[in-house]
Amino acid sequence: MHKKLFIPGPVEVRDDVLQKMATPMIGHRTKDASALQRRITEKLQKLMYTGNMILLSTSSGSGLMEGAVRSCTVKRAAVFSVGAFGDRWYKMAVSNNVPADLFPSEPGKPTTPEMVDKALATGKYDLITITHNETSTGVMNPVEEIAEVMKKYPEVVWCMDAVSSLGGAKIEVDKLGVDICITSTQKCLGLPPGMAICSFSEKAREAAKKVQFRGTYLDLLELYEYIIKKDYQYPSTPSLPHMFALDYQLDRILAGGLENRFARHIEMAKIVRAWAKERFALFPEEKYASVTLTTVKNTRGISVADLNRKLGEHGYMISNGYGSLKEVTFRIAHMADTTPDEIKELLTLIDRLI
Ligand SMILES: *Cc1c(COP(=O)(O)O)cnc(C)c1O
Repeated sequence: MHKKLFIPGPVEVRDDVLQKMATPMIGHRTKDASALQRRITEKLQKLMYTGNMILLSTSSGSGLMEGAVRSCTVKRAAVFSVGAFGDRWYKMAVSNNVPADLFPSEPGKPTTPEMVDKALATGKYDLITITHNETSTGVMNPVEEIAEVMKKYPEVVWCMDAVSSLGGAKIEVDKLGVDICITSTQKCLGLPPGMAICSFSEKAREAAKKVQFRGTYLDLLELYEYIIKKDYQYPSTPSLPHMFALDYQLDRILAGGLENRFARHIEMAKIVRAWAKERFALFPEEKYASVTLTTVKNTRGISVADLNRKLGEHGYMISNGYGSLKEVTFRIAHMADTTPDEIKELLTLIDRLI
């Protein structure tokens, strides 16, 4: 039996979107391939509120995270972490020999604008990484406030991990001043896993030109230059099935109205948070609670593994806590094409099982 996914990626994919993955192949060096990537780019620019070029990568989101910190750090990176995915970005920097320092927050707490200001005031850093939505702790960082601080440091490249939020929360890339905004297909965009997407600013490009060892496959400058030289093509063979499905899904997303999509995510978050507070507690400070997933503090000490097994018998699946937060927390994703009614159904079922 297929289990309906309420986990923070991969998410439930609509049948019509899945069908598009089975589109017959085209040559990746044809005008049709260029037109496909150009259409996807234009639609993603709307979704990201940016005029910057969009890069596609046949990898998961982690690929572009690694590519960004490696390709664009000239001097030293300040990596702000509010959990597992921020920590991972630091590990990527270190393992690529990119000079970097880690600025962690307490679990459940955000990266504050003061932290960013204090680090950048040292003048040591020319690139920062921020997690927009930390999928382990369920924290959504105050990026509008961080953007205010970033105005004081116009030379610093801002990389943002929006893997579990882009397409579910409004992220105005150009207004915020984000240089590289990264996401994956399998979360709020509602597609299967296998492709990563980012926006790429001129500032990021200029920084990359000064970096000698950017690697090859995940060299963001190479991806960009290929698009310019070869009319929206990809240096190697891209996952065309994802591109067919993405082209179609972005049409759906834009036709449904972006504001409606963001409002639906907020509505679902409110439903889950209210439920969580009544039965358990929220893990993050509510002010910083994510709109795309809720991390619930397991105050009743239930066996999450047991609950998930029972949910599975009914055709549903949620997520245990991440890493050291396993069993101490559990996570309910409310992203992509999930509806408030489906969320209510899930919560009603959990109530019956706990
Ligand atoms: C899922 C996730 C990632 C990793 O993305 P992949 O596509 O699995 O590589 C990174 N950051 C956040 C916040 C995520 O939720």
